[in-house]
Amino acid sequence: MDDSILVVNCGSSSLKLALFDHDHQKITSALAERLNQSDAFARINGDETPVHLPSGASHSQALAALVNAFKDRALMTGGPMAVGHRVVHGGETFREASLIDDQTVSAIEACAALAPLHNPVNLAGIRAMQALFPNVPQVAVFDTAYHQTLPERAYRYALPERCYSDWGVRRYGFHGTSHYFMAHEAARLLDKTPATSSIISAHLGNGCSITAIQNGLSVDTSMGLTPLEGLVMGTRSGDVDPGLFDYLASRGMSAGDVHEMLNKESGLQGLSGQTNDMRTLCELADHGHEPSQLAIDVFCFRLARYIGAMTASLTKLDALVFTGGIGENSARIRQNTTRHLHLLGIELDPDLNEHHGRWSDGRISSPDSRYPALVIPTNEELVIAREASRLAAAGTEHSEE
Ligand code: ADP
Repeated sequence: MDDSILVVNCGSSSLKLALFDHDHQKITSALAERLNQSDAFARINGDETPVHLPSGASHSQALAALVNAFKDRALMTGGPMAVGHRVVHGGETFREASLIDDQTVSAIEACAALAPLHNPVNLAGIRAMQALFPNVPQVAVFDTAYHQTLPERAYRYALPERCYSDWGVRRYGFHGTSHYFMAHEAARLLDKTPATSSIISAHLGNGCSITAIQNGLSVDTSMGLTPLEGLVMGTRSGDVDPGLFDYLASRGMSAGDVHEMLNKESGLQGLSGQTNDMRTLCELADHGHEPSQLAIDVFCFRLARYIGAMTASLTKLDALVFTGGIGENSARIRQNTTRHLHLLGIELDPDLNEHHGRWSDGRISSPDSRYPALVIPTNEELVIAREASRLAAAGTEHSEE
């Protein structure tokens, strides 16, 4: 065994594997795509030669191939000291990361009904790594766990009580690992501690969510029972009127059709009719493509409304934080969003907003902004690596007692 840590993130048809050293420095990472399809493909980042996968490779075959490739390239010498897994849904069972044992696996299975696209593949990743490294502690880090501090008034829907008590229908929230990282990084940049800082964290990637964090704890968030609620996203609609379901049924759409449309054909993709990719959308809008401009406008306006909504959960605000591929890279989206927030007094400095990378404190707001705005690159893999080594070490100490 060496003292490295592996971080596994299995998506429905892809996976990411990252390797960290014992100081939590990333050594390398790898990606496998189009899993379970004839053209399954894997690659170590920065390496031109693909890693060979059999046609139709499963998540477990891809993980085995990538671990072997790490070993062949002498990136890993033995087994890791811990494996951390991103698990999407932990329901109300998991308030924090957990060492994986049979009970944890059963609880993740029990939450699969709430995340049918994610929890089963997360479990496939866990089982594959347990088979490869039977004696290595495995740790599950849940997207939902950080939001378990939401007060009941924020997590309950105004539905009959039985929906919650019989079926677990409530708001869970997602992207928790990223929002947790924002709470800690923002506190560091603001020269505070997480327990004394309150922020609004906007994670804007292909999926988008926003969280109100009061004294380090998540107190409100935009995603709900599933990751479909809230902001406009790449292909997801975010909030719609629930009356839509009846109306579309009357037009002949089945529940499955509506699910598919809201998750895969809506959001930026649906509004623009062109792409779910914000960078491409900005280019199209620059060339006069009006539906792309509309998609950007709806995205930014919805985000600004949610920023306003999040203030209802906070007694103070130390910073508005942008992260995720869009939040970190698009000065235009940050500007288009904050221009709706004059009443809140958030003003960006155009130069800092455009070139924030040059300033180490991530600040993009003007000096007279009532609240600072920051850009902070997210790093969910690092959080998972830290949690995996922390719990593995605690587990080892425990078993030695
Ligand atoms: P994921 O949620 O899959 O991890 P990312 O966080 O990488 O996704 O975010 C992907 C999104 O970020 C895409 O819409 C992409 O176009 C957008 N993005 C990345 N760079 C830029 C940029 N310079 N300007 C606008 N959008 C960008």
